[in-house]
Amino acid sequence: MARSLSHRRVIIVGAGHSGLATAAALRSSGLEPQKDFVIIDSAPPGQRSWATRWQSMKLRSAARHSVVRGFPFPGDEDRHPSADEMSDYLSSVEKAIGVKTVWSTRALGVNRLGDGSTLHLSTSAGEVQTRNVVCATGAAAVPRIPGWRQELAVPGVVLHSSQYLDPAQIPPGRVLIVGGGYSGVEIAEELTSSHDVTLATRAEPPRASERPIWSRLRRKGPMSEARPRAASTDVTHAAAVTGVNGDTVMFADGASMKPQSLILATGYEPADGWLPDSEPPGQPLHVSARIPGLFTVGMPRYSRADADTLAGASREAATVARLIVGRP
Ligand SMILES: Cc1cc2nc3c(=O)[nH]c(=O)nc-3n(C[C@H](O)[C@H](O)[C@H](O)COP(=O)(O)OP(=O)(O)OC[C@H]3O[C@@H](n4cnc5c(N)ncnc54)[C@H](O)[C@@H]3O)c2cc1C
Repeated sequence: MARSLSHRRVIIVGAGHSGLATAAALRSSGLEPQKDFVIIDSAPPGQRSWATRWQSMKLRSAARHSVVRGFPFPGDEDRHPSADEMSDYLSSVEKAIGVKTVWSTRALGVNRLGDGSTLHLSTSAGEVQTRNVVCATGAAAVPRIPGWRQELAVPGVVLHSSQYLDPAQIPPGRVLIVGGGYSGVEIAEELTSSHDVTLATRAEPPRASERPIWSRLRRKGPMSEARPRAASTDVTHAAAVTGVNGDTVMFADGASMKPQSLILATGYEPADGWLPDSEPPGQPLHVSARIPGLFTVGMPRYSRADADTLAGASREAATVARLIVGRP
């Protein structure tokens, strides 16, 4: 397998939106899928990140801001597509580009051979030689679990938001959701119809007359069109979690509670563990000055703050494709 991947001009690692946006931009620049570039992905065939989101999830960004350039979203472009629609859309883009992702193949490391232009990509299928590697392995990929999780013992379940699918997963009773970002707020709202819900956030408690958590989530750009849900006064607010003692969770304002179950909507880390250390830090889109030809798409840690949005990653993909095509 590794032999058949070698000697392409570009290997794209990650077949999510960022990887496909890069593939689309390379194809627009005249490179041929399979012949000049390939995509590898560690997931089982077709299992993009959207396939594992909770069942009622809708994107924050409208369809028109969630596209791979050149491939419009079918239907109303102002709606907020579901996670399933996003999965189907990306599969259709993959097909339209004509790229055949090599699934179940994980990138393990990348290095440069001497001072030459050849990069060595280590994968779970063996060593691959190429001239350019694009890291598109996702900024929100590895669940972030607080250290106190190990000491917590509740009678129900403890899940990260990435494992949450629907309310039937959570035993009846009090559920504490930790984290006031998009996932925490949306899951809290969904569970109010079946559970007694407390949402612990670092932010100030919401006032009854407005949706301060939502308004803080909003920002300029595509995300500002976030789909507002019906305001719910059924969610109890708690301060940030400071620690746990067995079945008891302690909050920053001195309060505590004994939840039946707990959902950690505590965010994600990027899947960049296979990259070499960044050097020098902040070199836009280049992970390391020592490895020319290694680029990232979709990772704010290495480029722009909005790189982890679908619109931002699309812009980056176009830039990276230009840089690759311009390389000797
Ligand atoms: C709950 C949630 C909701 C979101 N909603 C929005 C939204 O509405 N709008 C928006 O703009 N953004 C949203 N985001 C951010 C969103 O995740 C990104 O915009 C988009 O999915 C990023 O795509 P990506 O291709 O960079 O990463 P991913 O979709 O994570 O794809 C990365 C791919 O890389 C593969 N991979 C990982 N490691 C390796 C490896 N070592 N080797 C090979 N393959 C590997 C993975 O299997 C995966 O298929 C949301 C994020 C979350 C968590």
